[in-house]
Amino acid sequence: MNKIFKSALVVMMVAALVLSAGCGGGTPEPAPSDERESYLVGTEPTFPPFQMTDEGTGEIIGFDIDLINAIAENQGFDVEIQSLGFDGLIPALQSGQIDIIASGMTITEARALEVQFSDPYINAGLALAVLEENTEIESVDDLEGKIVGVQIGTTGAILADELLDEGKIDGVRTFNTIDVVMMEMVNGGVDAVINDLPVTIAYINQQPGMIKIVGETLTSESYGFAVRQEDSELAAKINAGLAELIESGFYEELIAEYF
Ligand code: GLN
Repeated sequence: MNKIFKSALVVMMVAALVLSAGCGGGTPEPAPSDERESYLVGTEPTFPPFQMTDEGTGEIIGFDIDLINAIAENQGFDVEIQSLGFDGLIPALQSGQIDIIASGMTITEARALEVQFSDPYINAGLALAVLEENTEIESVDDLEGKIVGVQIGTTGAILADELLDEGKIDGVRTFNTIDVVMMEMVNGGVDAVINDLPVTIAYINQQPGMIKIVGETLTSESYGFAVRQEDSELAAKINAGLAELIESGFYEELIAEYF
C-alpha cells in the first residue's frame, strides 16, 4: 500500500473512532464491568494447543481460552479461567463450581445427556501414537497383547476400553493428564497412546524425534463448549458470539495462529 494512502487511512480510522465516541449515538456503550455477568470457565490445561500453561507467566493460554475470551468480549460478559482435572469438569459444572467448560471437550451423545453443548467450534479426531523407534505397531490392528495409555474420562479412554472388550489390546493404563501418558510411553510403561490428533502433534512438536503417529485417524470428533442443561441463555450467547467471530474473520486468524 502507498505510504501516503496508508497514513490517510489510519487518520480516517482514528477520526471515525473519535467521532463515534464523541457523538454518543450509534453503538451502545459497553456495560461497566461491575454490571456485567461473570462466568467461571473450567479447563484442564495440559492439552496444547487448546489449553496449556504459559511457562513464563503461569497463565492458562491456548486456542480455546482465546476463543472463549473473545466470545465473552463480543457478548459483553466476563470470564475467569479455572484449572480442573478433565474428569472433574462435568461434575464441577453440574454442582455450580464452574459455569462453562472450555477444554477440548468432544460433543458426545452421552455427555449431551448431562450438559448442554454449544455449536461445534473445531473438528479433531483420535490418533494412535507410539515411540519413534517402534517398528512393530503400524496401526490399531497391531495392538494385540499391547498396553495402551490414555487420559482419564476422555474419548480416547472410551475407545481403548472398547478395544480391550473386543480383545484387540491387552490392557489400558489411565492417567490424569496426557503429558503424563506421553511420559509413561517414553519410559516404557505403555506401548501406545490414544489421544486427540492435534494435541499429540503439539507434543511431538515440543519434543521432536521421540513419538510418532501411526495408522489412520481413528475417529472424527467435534469440540463444543458446555454449560448446564438449564443455561440456555448462556449457550445462545456463546453460539451468537462464535457465529460473529467466524463472520468477522477473527476465528480464521486464531486458527492460523495456533495450527
Ligand atoms: N476430546 C477429548 C474428549 O473430549 C479429550 C479432551 C481433553 O483431554 N481435554 O474426551
